[in-house]
Amino acid sequence: MREDFLLLNPGPVPVAREVREAMSAPMVSHRSAAFEAVYERAQEHVEYVFEGSTPSGDTTSAGGTALLLNGTATMGMEAAVGNLVGDGGEVVAVVNGKFGRRFARVAERYADVTRVTADWGAPVDLDAVADAVTTETDVVTMVHNETSTGLLNPVDAVGDIAADADARYVVDGVTSIGGDEFRIDDWGVDIAVTDAQKALAAPPGLSAVYVTDDVVPALDGEAAPFYEDIEWHLRKAESNQTPFTSAVPLFRGLAAAAARIREEGMADRIARHRRQAAAFRDGFHEMGLASFPELNDAAAYSNTLTAIRLPAGARGADAAAFMDAVTARGVSISGGQGHLGGEIFRVSNMGQLTAQQVVRGVRTVGDALDE
Ligand code: PLP
Repeated sequence: MREDFLLLNPGPVPVAREVREAMSAPMVSHRSAAFEAVYERAQEHVEYVFEGSTPSGDTTSAGGTALLLNGTATMGMEAAVGNLVGDGGEVVAVVNGKFGRRFARVAERYADVTRVTADWGAPVDLDAVADAVTTETDVVTMVHNETSTGLLNPVDAVGDIAADADARYVVDGVTSIGGDEFRIDDWGVDIAVTDAQKALAAPPGLSAVYVTDDVVPALDGEAAPFYEDIEWHLRKAESNQTPFTSAVPLFRGLAAAAARIREEGMADRIARHRRQAAAFRDGFHEMGLASFPELNDAAAYSNTLTAIRLPAGARGADAAAFMDAVTARGVSISGGQGHLGGEIFRVSNMGQLTAQQVVRGVRTVGDALDE
């Protein structure tokens, strides 16, 4: 693998040298004081990310705890719903892409789920959500940044609907938290989930779940999934521990990555992500390519991921050739997921990209299309 290979996939994203070095330190026991110090650092920084993700850097939560889990965000999604409706209940799942659908599928293992569905890439129909959410609803699930389409969903408006019905609100902020604005209290979020290998720019394998103090009395106790029992994790976190064996190198990597976020500060980090996503979009538009979906409201475009329609001639078999041509130039991007395969490509700016890397990404796509 060439040294300057550039990962522009929507996770895993490139990790900094000090993150890689932190992971290769000699092993310690997960029950040692050395590990507790790592957990404490990682947790404190990740909590800062959950609570400080505003363009001004102001805090957005009245109180809560960031839990770090041994498992990717799908486990975090399961932790959120499994701890609220572990022994059944009513869930409304908002679905307009692959990850909204995943949240519905996770919830279906535990509860009766009503899906409010729009086409992938189409805006959420708020009237349909309001019709579906009733006083019987226990939980509403929602994806903020739909990674399969590059659409930023209205977490605030759906949060109002959930609050009006007194339902708990769990939000997948997997590809927004750490790179874009995310307001726990203002949006009425009870539990938020993110992944290590996305905008936190850490290695894959861990997720983080933010549990507000308000939601703790609603947790299901013994009906919760065993490995993801949030009350148990909360108790252990008080002494910077986890219930089970921790993935020590990954926690070290996450602590180092999150420390870099702290240095940059969330306000500057959000501004940088917004600039870089706009630069990718503008660059691709300048080549005559169109966004997927094409939106009148630029604020609904993701600030961490750009989805672009492949030109007609590049569809089908040629789409694979296009992706290979990009990879051959030392850059990795992603194609469309599910039925969008062969229709779109996706480029991430999550994490720590430099301006030069953004320019290189645009130029590489242009060169590969011209080939
Ligand atoms: N939610 C969103 C929005 C995602 O983009 C992803 C992964 O890309 C996930 C959930 C699931 O993450 P994982 O596969 O790491 O469990």
